[in-house]
Amino acid sequence: MREIAPDVYVLQVLPAHLLNVYVIGDVLVDAGTPWHARTIIDSLRGRAVSAHVLTHCHPDHQGSSAAVCRHFGIPLWTGAADAPAVEQGAALAASLPRLPLGRLWDRVLSGPGHPVQRVLRNCDDVAAGFVVLETPGHTPGHVSFWRESDRVLIAGDVLLGINPRTGRAGLHEHLDFACTDPRRNRASAERVAELEPEVICFGHGPPLGGAAPRLRTLMKKSGRRT
Ligand SMILES: [Zn+2]
Repeated sequence: MREIAPDVYVLQVLPAHLLNVYVIGDVLVDAGTPWHARTIIDSLRGRAVSAHVLTHCHPDHQGSSAAVCRHFGIPLWTGAADAPAVEQGAALAASLPRLPLGRLWDRVLSGPGHPVQRVLRNCDDVAAGFVVLETPGHTPGHVSFWRESDRVLIAGDVLLGINPRTGRAGLHEHLDFACTDPRRNRASAERVAELEPEVICFGHGPPLGGAAPRLRTLMKKSGRRT
């Protein structure tokens, strides 16, 4: 586990930074695919963990949620609009209605459903000084976590830290076809940009320091396109 900012850790999940699992304070943020349960449980050994929170319901984030919650006996928290999909373990069919064979993909890729004990709304406290920022669009109930004191953002997939086509590190918008509502996701990204984050911790890609000016440039480019 590596500390990125005070009380913000990224777990060593392979392949490195292709997808990320974080700990903020004593709360686990996201849980990789169904094949990451053992790595996550081993990484958290000896640490006090009091809850598990999801940025959104997709199977590369909720894959091991049920296993981890059961193992540590901790509650699961999600954005309100993603809670039904998380409880059913059926995120792809629910959040990407245009995806062919969504239910089949869910059966192959999604982790099992798990009860959600707390639904999150804007400004709710999470842990270590982070509050909830509702950032819908990638999924209907997508949330990010924001700490004003040192301007650290746990972004989830509202933005990407890798090029989704090449896999190389860099700040990018998400692909339209992977979002429930691409326009709404863009509006969420703009809202995040207005906060001028210093550090962005993405769902995919290495953390980005000195993020605000780069994000401003990306948003300007995207504004010209729309
Ligand atoms: Zn993702």
